[in-house]
Amino acid sequence: MNQVTLSTDLRKSRQLKPSGNAETVAFTPSLDTVQQVDNAEREFRRASQSKSERWTLRTPTKRDIVARLERVSAKDALRLKQCCSAFRVLTCGIHPLRSYPTFRCKKLFCPDCAAERANRLGNQTEAKIAEVMKTTKGRLCLLTLTTKNAPTLDGGLSNLKKAFTQFKRKKVFKERIKGYFGGFEYTFNPKTNDFHIHLHLIVLRGKFWNQSDISDAWRDVTGDSFIVDIREIKDAHKGVKEVCKYVVKSNDLMKMPDEKFLEVVKMKKGTRMFITGGCFYNVKLDDADETDDNIFSQFTDLTEGDACPFCKQELFDVFVDRKTHIGLHELGSMPNVVKNNSS
Ligand SMILES: [Zn+2]
Ligand SMILES: [Zn+2]
Repeated sequence: MNQVTLSTDLRKSRQLKPSGNAETVAFTPSLDTVQQVDNAEREFRRASQSKSERWTLRTPTKRDIVARLERVSAKDALRLKQCCSAFRVLTCGIHPLRSYPTFRCKKLFCPDCAAERANRLGNQTEAKIAEVMKTTKGRLCLLTLTTKNAPTLDGGLSNLKKAFTQFKRKKVFKERIKGYFGGFEYTFNPKTNDFHIHLHLIVLRGKFWNQSDISDAWRDVTGDSFIVDIREIKDAHKGVKEVCKYVVKSNDLMKMPDEKFLEVVKMKKGTRMFITGGCFYNVKLDDADETDDNIFSQFTDLTEGDACPFCKQELFDVFVDRKTHIGLHELGSMPNVVKNNSS
């Protein structure tokens, strides 16, 4: 049944296909649309996700963040609202094969863009680990460095960065750590009204380095902070996920008073939140514009005019709204779609 609906929808969308470049098409969804889409998304997640994943529904959604943003910065609110509100889907009319959002805001506080970034970062760092571990001996560890809570995000971040620069120049660091990569992460404490900023690193450790020695060395450069944690990583995939995950949780974002919230929203564009060094130096990041949406990424070579690998019909691009896109996800992975169709 789904099959028929999808096919009709896509055919309809084809007639609406705008001429010219997708990126230049103005698209401004009404708040109503955003709300509908959001409800559809909640329903979809509730229906399709496992129990343990369902708790994520309790976290504020993009719509909540947009609503809040509208009060403090209309321009940023509009960008966030437009981000991932429309998608370009490559299809034969029956099989959706690739999909891209027509616009991404690339803001670190955007749940869509943060998830996409975490995913992309994760894939690339995992590939780099595999490559490096072929030639370099050592143990992969997760190292967390923390500083005292800071009243401003900017100030706290730059203090932590300065401390880490000194830390990595220490003889004891150079002797033991062959390479590192990792990201800055922050949480917000509404009671004390300040930021807790920390650095999660995946390090390739040579000689053993115990926690209390690391703590001493860290206190040496920070003056007042000594809370560190180091543990061996058994599963590189899990470790990478830990360091590449969201920079800020939406929950924390919603707890901030307006002036802190604005600080996060207005954070300078090129602020570096991911660092690499040693044998992991220069893990390169592709541009987000070039990456497919996560769900249908197995057909990255296909383009308009090619034949569909399943039914051999010619492929073309259609533009669908977020709700329809979620509908495509609902159909599940490609094998399902194919099975339905061939029966
Ligand atoms: Zn975004
Ligand atoms: Zn097809």
